[in-house]
Amino acid sequence: MPDLPGTATVMTLGAHMCKWPIGDPSSTEFSFCGRRASEGVYCIEHARVAYQPQVKRGGATDLARSLRRYI
Ligand SMILES: [Zn+2]
Repeated sequence: MPDLPGTATVMTLGAHMCKWPIGDPSSTEFSFCGRRASEGVYCIEHARVAYQPQVKRGGATDLARSLRRYI
């Protein structure tokens, strides 16, 4: 059970639990991953997504820049 993502809420989220948000923050079903955080504030799986090294140089930056043009 503690290993299932999405079991932690704002009330139960501990210092060493993964703070990856799951679901819609405006929904009552919103929760956090809650697995043991081992890489910063995220579990291994989510840290991999959050701290993804830029594979293509400038890829993400270019995307952000082109998006900003439309916002
Ligand atoms: Zn996680």
